[in-house]
Amino acid sequence: MRSTPEHLPEHLRATVGLRVDLIDTPALVVDLDAMERNIQRMAEFAHKHQVRWRPHAKMHKSAEIALQLEKAGARGHCVQKVSEAEALAAGGVADLYISNEVLGGAKLLRAARLAAQLAARGGRLAIAVDSEEGITRLSEAMRVAGSDAGIDVFVEIDVGQGRCGVPPGPAALALAQAVAAQPRLHFAGLQAYHGSAQHLRGAAERRAAIAHAVQAAADTRALIEAAGLPVPLVTGSGTGTLVHEAASGVYGELQAGSFLFMDADYAANEREGAQPAFEHALFVKTQVISARPTHVVCDAGHKSHAVDSGMPLVWGLPPERALRYANGGDEHGVLHAAGPKARLPALGRMLWLVPGHCDPTVNLHDYLIGVRGGLAHGVVERIIRVDARGAVT
Ligand code: PLP
Ligand code: MN
Repeated sequence: MRSTPEHLPEHLRATVGLRVDLIDTPALVVDLDAMERNIQRMAEFAHKHQVRWRPHAKMHKSAEIALQLEKAGARGHCVQKVSEAEALAAGGVADLYISNEVLGGAKLLRAARLAAQLAARGGRLAIAVDSEEGITRLSEAMRVAGSDAGIDVFVEIDVGQGRCGVPPGPAALALAQAVAAQPRLHFAGLQAYHGSAQHLRGAAERRAAIAHAVQAAADTRALIEAAGLPVPLVTGSGTGTLVHEAASGVYGELQAGSFLFMDADYAANEREGAQPAFEHALFVKTQVISARPTHVVCDAGHKSHAVDSGMPLVWGLPPERALRYANGGDEHGVLHAAGPKARLPALGRMLWLVPGHCDPTVNLHDYLIGVRGGLAHGVVERIIRVDARGAVT
């Protein structure tokens, strides 16, 4: 569902059609051409490897973008939260997977009701589990919701991150059997996401981490199938490692999300030869609001972009003229000359930042400003609502 002009705040409505240099700051801007090239690269990559892609919507949190991805070939979306699933479903997305554990009774009931709604629309909801308790609670919520359509359930195995998931092997078999024994739960396969491998800087380190994950997933799948239970799908992967899961022959679905916007943290990874050449598509436009001989200050601080994965990059400067961004607090960034020939920008100058981490950056904004024609001469084409902003339950 597109954000119709009537729903937009006045200042944003007035932005549509404006040249980029007139966008007020700070602003979260999407380079639509770069984003669409990223979508195309991902579609071609998945097609080449004959894997499905189910992008992670925890990153963009927008139904409009999700539907654009599905038009390009994505098979449904991942989310992390029930409330994200609700927000995207309300915007027209019908095939959703909560790739995370949910234990709270109220949330499980909402998930069960959403599963029924999506099934009635010809869609579906799936969810991950990693405990007997989680399975019992989900089953009870599905009974209370009274839906016959059921819900697809993935058993999560811990393939190296040390976060959620049971150890690969017998513990996963026991959970798969527990799922299959429940009337409204359908065992859909294994969730095998290696989060901490995504930003291992060296390509060889990432390859080794995913080789381990692939082996663990393959062995667990074989164990479950040997017990007579088919494992329809192994799902996982992120932007940092997708070349390995895609080539594994074990993973049937890729969950990468950040490929769409690409942040500074991902830019710091050593490139893998086979990795599609994803480009930065998410930027914070900022203005120099104070200037001193030693440094200048811009109007984008950590209320404009997340700093959990490092500071933003100042975009578009050759290395010899590079500027370094230092955190200046909630509303400020302090810029220093970094390259040998760097000159501090003048008061009033507009600059573009590449955020350190795209997911929590998007979550700081209600709208994304979509620009067509590039950051130098482009125009604002559309305003995209961040439907699941703040959806944390
Ligand atoms: N799958 C799961 C379960 C995740 O938690 C994440 C991100 O944290 C992803 C996929 C997507 O990873 P990325 O945004 O790095 O591509
Ligand atoms: Mn992330």
